[in-house]
Amino acid sequence: MEKHKERSALQAVIDAKCPQCRQGDIYVYKMLSTKFTTMNKTCSECGLYYEREPGFFWGAMYISYGFAIATVLTAFAIMTILVDHVKLWQYFVAIFVPLFIIAPFAFRYSRVLMLYLFAGVSYDKDAIEKNEDKIKQEKIN
Ligand SMILES: [Zn+2]
Repeated sequence: MEKHKERSALQAVIDAKCPQCRQGDIYVYKMLSTKFTTMNKTCSECGLYYEREPGFFWGAMYISYGFAIATVLTAFAIMTILVDHVKLWQYFVAIFVPLFIIAPFAFRYSRVLMLYLFAGVSYDKDAIEKNEDKIKQEKIN
């Protein structure tokens, strides 16, 4: 059996890995892809079903909203502090360009945080072995 990489919870969140085994990918493609929203249905390693209940990821919108507010406030503060006599269009550019740039990040990490904070799934280092045993049992039966 191959040795799996040990990850801290923070590293697993950054790498967008399954909250149960910290090995399987949550997303199919990389963030800088046109298909950055495509998620795996289940963890490829431990079999965890990511959408914990119907509409589970709707809650991620609140987290994404938080990322957007933080971006807007930061951009607004930077413009106000660093630029003299800011014009309205300059505020719009300074706010909407970063919002557009962080959109893939906000989409993906809001869902990752939703899984880690509100899915009721805890880390189980034996999750992969348990899943392999379950698959073997299903093949026997
Ligand atoms: Zn997993």
